[in-house]
Amino acid sequence: MSRLTYVSTRGAAPELGFADVLLAGLARDGGLYVPSRWPSLTVGALERFAGMGYADVATEVMWPFVEGAIEADTFAALVADAYATFDSPEVVPFTDLGDGVWLAELFHGPTLAFKDVALQLVGRLFDHELRRRGERVTVVGATSGDTGSAAIEALRDRDAVDVFILHPAGRVSEVQRRQMTTVAAPNVHNVAVEGTFDDCQDLVKALFADEAFRDRRHLSAVNSINWARVMAQVVYYVTSTVRLTGGDGRPVAFSVPTGNFGNVFAGYGAQRMGTPVSQFVVASNRNDILTRFLTTGTMTIGEVQPTLSPSMDIQVSSNLERLLFEVYGRDGAAVAELMARFRAEGTVSVDAGRLDLLAEHWSAGRVDDAQTTATIAELHQRTGRLIDPHTAVGLTAALEARADERVPMVVLSTAHPAKFPDAVEAATGVRPALPPHLADLFDRPERYEVVANDYDVVRRLIDDTLDGAR
Ligand SMILES: *Cc1c(COP(=O)(O)O)cnc(C)c1O
Repeated sequence: MSRLTYVSTRGAAPELGFADVLLAGLARDGGLYVPSRWPSLTVGALERFAGMGYADVATEVMWPFVEGAIEADTFAALVADAYATFDSPEVVPFTDLGDGVWLAELFHGPTLAFKDVALQLVGRLFDHELRRRGERVTVVGATSGDTGSAAIEALRDRDAVDVFILHPAGRVSEVQRRQMTTVAAPNVHNVAVEGTFDDCQDLVKALFADEAFRDRRHLSAVNSINWARVMAQVVYYVTSTVRLTGGDGRPVAFSVPTGNFGNVFAGYGAQRMGTPVSQFVVASNRNDILTRFLTTGTMTIGEVQPTLSPSMDIQVSSNLERLLFEVYGRDGAAVAELMARFRAEGTVSVDAGRLDLLAEHWSAGRVDDAQTTATIAELHQRTGRLIDPHTAVGLTAALEARADERVPMVVLSTAHPAKFPDAVEAATGVRPALPPHLADLFDRPERYEVVANDYDVVRRLIDDTLDGAR
């Protein structure tokens, strides 16, 4: 079969190969890249995977997406290296909660959130491709917490990349700040902006919009719309299914704490490749635009409300556009029109019948902070186990929306409880401890610059740093 190319969800950007999609992020027409077709797992692959380790399965599942852009041996080595950074030999260990409900622990990477699963690999792919091209880039990003530390850990000490991460001064938790600012790598630069997360995001957008600066510094991004991140997340839907069924064809259900929709869209990809998934539960907190959309077909933007699960405090879930593209029969012009209407009016409804495609497998649940706290407390009382608030949203929604008790339900556990110690302690009275590799986090020296919320100040800081004036 011919090699995969990638097309934009808005149908008006050039078709690209994997390496270009990796570095491009967003498509030139404002859309997101998706594979031009979904590859199929080969007959018997799932059963064969039952006897294999995570990195070997990952290499095989992702190979059709990268073939032609990288040598097979090199790719296998990068994948093995990426998952060797996890503190569990299984990479994604499982916990049995009883009644056929399981936790898939996605937080065993260096920064304790599931973003490491994708970013540890994407950082290595980035570095490999840039060296091959003999290029350097400056990665700039804004973070409200988890993404910044995962990106920093993935890109630290890489010769071809400088990374600048902007966070709102005083508005991220101390654990989150220290996970970013204690990384002593010469190519890592933390900037605390005297403003909000939205101010940080606006500054990053302004840096990208400044064409002279963007070209001079070769700006790049590793944000959640990057296709390679979705690709790496497809893998654990496959390994989870194999783990619970031996790959004999029986289905599994997944509940996914959802923000930008990248994680659950990866599950859709796994299903399209032939993984038997009978149900996706899209779990939201009080910011429930997705729940409302999936139940009514109408998407209406509201104010972002702060909750106990801040990594899901999002109103516009960028990766939903990838699912809309499928729901619209891969009609890029229709998706472009839909997104333009949403942007102009703040509300949009999909045509009647379009969501029928999702009726069989998709459900959604909204979980407020009180329910989140109750679930953390209840599980701790019953089993002695601590879970973080994002995982608790997923578990609560899973129990409410479960369609078939005979099908194993996998709740994706997206963060370590010690990443959100205040919420966990408030629910249980127990303060979760950081794992050994971060036990001295509060003793490590921090390094970051505090700057005014001012475009010229930030731009000059980046220029001066790269020119060695600091
Ligand atoms: C990023 C994040 C999410 C949301 O994932 P999406 O792919 O954006 O839907 C959920 N939980 C945690 C802990 C996260 O860091």
